[in-house]
This record gives sequence, C-alpha cells and structure tokens, in this order.
Amino acid sequence: MKGFASRCVKRLFLAGPIAALFLFNAASSWSQSSNYEFNDSHFHLTNNIQEGPGIREFVGMMGDKAGRVAVFGVPLQQEWSYRVDGDRAPSYYLHSDAPLYYYSFTDATIAMEYKSLTKEQQARFDPMITGFNPADMYAADHVRRVLETFPGVFTGIGEFAIHKEFVSAKIPGEVASLQNPALDRLLDFAGQVGLVVLIHNDIDVPFAKEGAEPAYLGEMKALFKRHRNATIIWAHTGLGRTVRPGKNHTTRIEEILKDPNFDHVYFDLAWDEVAKYFVGTPETTAAIGALIQRYPDRFLFGTDAVAPADQSKYLAVFNQYQPLWNSLDAKTSRKVRLENYQRIFDEGRRKVRNWESMHVPTLKSNMARETPISSN
Ligand SMILES: [Zn+2]
Repeated sequence: MKGFASRCVKRLFLAGPIAALFLFNAASSWSQSSNYEFNDSHFHLTNNIQEGPGIREFVGMMGDKAGRVAVFGVPLQQEWSYRVDGDRAPSYYLHSDAPLYYYSFTDATIAMEYKSLTKEQQARFDPMITGFNPADMYAADHVRRVLETFPGVFTGIGEFAIHKEFVSAKIPGEVASLQNPALDRLLDFAGQVGLVVLIHNDIDVPFAKEGAEPAYLGEMKALFKRHRNATIIWAHTGLGRTVRPGKNHTTRIEEILKDPNFDHVYFDLAWDEVAKYFVGTPETTAAIGALIQRYPDRFLFGTDAVAPADQSKYLAVFNQYQPLWNSLDAKTSRKVRLENYQRIFDEGRRKVRNWESMHVPTLKSNMARETPISSN
C-alpha cells in the first residue's frame, strides 16, 4: 500500500505543474486561434456600490466579441450617508458629496465569481486585485494575503488610482501620492511576483493652463524609473473626464515610449471619456493613430465598462473607437485589440502562478507533506 501511495503521490506531484503548464498552453493557444474582435485590459464587473452582473451573465455579453478580459471590481465604495443624501441612495462617486472608502471585500467577490466559472471560461479572465489603500504601507500585505487566500486566480493589481479628478479628494485620511513609500512598497512587491500593474493617475490637474508642464508627469516618470522590474500599464494615457489632452499630449507620451528606461510601461485607451478625445476630430484620431503605429506593441484596448447591463452597453467603447481602428494598419490594429493583451497577461499569469507555487503556504505545505511520503 505504501509503495502504491508513494507512486500515486509522485505521479500527482509531477502531474501538478505539468498539468498546469498544459492547461496554461491550452488556454493560450485557445485564445490565439480564436477570432475575437478584442481583448479587454480594463473592465469593472461591479460599480461604486459593488453591484453589477454576475460573471456568468457577463460571459454572455463577451459573446464572440471579447476573447479575454482583465476583470476587477471598484476599490472605492460610495458611502450612503443618510444625513447627506436622505433616501436618494447614490450609486456613483459623482452622485454624492458623502465620502468614498476602500472596500477590500471586492477582491473576494471577484475571486468567488471567477471560481464559479468552468475551466474554459476561467481561461478567458485575468482577475486583478484592487481592494487596497495605496497610501497605506500595508497595501502590499493585502495583495499578498489575497494571493495566499485565492491562489491560481489573480494576474495583476489594479485598476487603482493615485491622483484622480473628483475621486482623490473624497477619500478620508491621507491622500494618495506618487511620492509615498507605500506605493513603492506595493510596486516592489508587484515586480517581485510578476503582477501586471494597472494604474490610474491623471497626468495633470483638471482645467490646467495649456502649455504648462503637466502637474504629475515628472512624478509619474520618476515612479516608472524606480520600478523597472514591474510591468506597468498607465490607464487612459493619463487623461480623464476634465483632464484633456494638451497640444503636446502625444509628444509627451512618445517621450516615454522612445526612452529605453520605460520599456516596461504600456498605455491603455480605456474609457468613453478618453475615446471622446481620440475620435473627437479626424486630426486627433490621426495623431494618436500615428503614435500607435510607431509603437504598436505598447498600447492596449480596454473598455473601462462598469457593471454593464447588456452587450450593447459593454461594446459601446469598442464601437466608439471605430475611426481609430479604421486608421490603423491591420497588423497594428490586431496588436492593440488582441495580441498585446495576450503577451502581457500571459506573462503575468505565468509569473504569478510560479510565485504562488513557491510562496503560498497552503501550496508549500502540500508539497512538504508529500515529500516525506514520496521519499519512502
Ligand atoms: Zn481609470
């Protein structure tokens, strides 16, 4: 019996990583062979009050349009303050003067939604950890705890925000900053693990004077330089609802793209508020299109859809970008819509699974329990 058990354990022990590798390769070749319109690097399954469609319902919205999706909740919960809003229950951060607060349970919700899927469906998602306060030195510990609690689930961290118009000022306590060592600790950890980082940081303050250096560009570059080990996606190319692209926006982005110190930095085109700039006039579409053509491996499409009610709402931003898709050559368009996602998130998955196999106590203790038996 002992010999049989030992052979079984040995076989399982070998089969684990090999099976995982096979599944990983199967998932990867699955996505390469399929003819989807896009992969979505930026998707919120839930809104500011943690409501949204179930993930299985959302798979129906992806349909044959979206192949893979980086999925996360929203880390900032809008408080319903009866003293401020009475019976008018707010569901969006702009709908109330009451504060926002970090709601870490969002990560557990996303993990449990993901775990409710079949293996084939899971292969279409890259869940992201968002439920931490980036001004807290313990933020990195939250990320580690989520990986330990839900091994095999997450690929990255984000979308989390440092400077964000209308949002940052609504969070009580210390305001997040690009110069805070807590953010460095977080990104150091992301780099060690291989977690893909999706960061929202406005490049400038709202309604800035044209021509002046954007308020946060220098600090953002310094942050990137301090974290060359991490794979970082700068959401929305730094733009926002009122943070408009100045005349030199594409030049400033290009300065990052052409500098080898920033070859770990990528940009997403997510959010209808950003699409409105890039397809606003034929000239702006031509300018961003030409930049993407020069650096075709560095841009990702994301919807930034938040808890969509149906497929047409989910696809709206992709359709809004039609003038941009028309302006790109077929190869570049395919990279931005599909292949850059695949490359970046495949690498993230592989690294995070590898880190988990070496650092997650439950996985490690399984190995430790197996080792003495198999050595008999
Ligand atoms: Zn954002």
